[in-house]
Amino acid sequence: MVHNGKVVIVTGASKGIGRAISHKLASLDFNLMLVSRDLSSLNKVKSEISSLGGGEIEVLSCDLTQEDEIQNLVEKTLERFEKIDVLVNNAGVGRFKRVDDFTLDDYDFMFDLNVKGLFLLTKYIIPYLITQKSGHVINISSIAGKNGFKSGSLYSASKHAVQGFTWSLREDVKEFGIKVTAVCPGSVLTRFGGKKAENVDWSLEPEDVAHAIGFLVTESDYVNTAEIIIKPRYNPRTVNWETRI
Ligand code: NAP
Repeated sequence: MVHNGKVVIVTGASKGIGRAISHKLASLDFNLMLVSRDLSSLNKVKSEISSLGGGEIEVLSCDLTQEDEIQNLVEKTLERFEKIDVLVNNAGVGRFKRVDDFTLDDYDFMFDLNVKGLFLLTKYIIPYLITQKSGHVINISSIAGKNGFKSGSLYSASKHAVQGFTWSLREDVKEFGIKVTAVCPGSVLTRFGGKKAENVDWSLEPEDVAHAIGFLVTESDYVNTAEIIIKPRYNPRTVNWETRI
């Protein structure tokens, strides 16, 4: 099979939305560097997707809150594939409480990954994309980056930071032919944030977000879709969701 030759880093690829994105991109013949902290789950995803398309699949354990591990990820990806075409900044965490119950640890937990990790990985990849004069940074933000909601103050603040970062990044790099996109899903059926049963009937499936990523990476070179907001409708497939995800 002839693959398309493009290289994508997917963070948070071990489960949830990142796993679904990895399935979609493998089926579109991309070469993939799949990243999270849990190597055995990454290898499981690799075995699920390796026969879907013609691209090469690599996995790497990386704690995206650690600058040295992020630098190692960029080096290892370039060693293995010699270029990077798309970065999908998907890894993210959430904790949900009333504001006076949040601690500094909760703040660091969310901001260290959702904001600092996303910033650092982007920072270390952008010089290569500028040299190439092409590339695409796709940030998985959230509806929480557009609105506030009960018990979501810190998570929403972290995703608003992702939104501001994304909009400004586009202005920094558009002259170099680099695309930048924010993807803002509503609730998605994953184990994110210790998800509970309420409102799962109004949830997206991880594959719905992956579908949007597939759209973004197959657009014409001269198009930069800046933002995609994905809202759920009533989802009858949520029956027995806890045993499915
Ligand atoms: P998930 O199922 O909990 O997956 C989170 C991923 O992030 C896992 O692969 C996890 O892998 C990785 N991760 C966590 N901490 C990490 C770290 N320190 N270093 C590297 N990787 C780390 O969550 P999800 O629902 O797929 O969420 C993915 C993204 O979508 C997040 O940015 C989230 O904010 C956003 N989002 C989610 C929803 C939703 O309702 N689920 C809605 C809108 C937006 P390891 O544990 O193996 O490290």
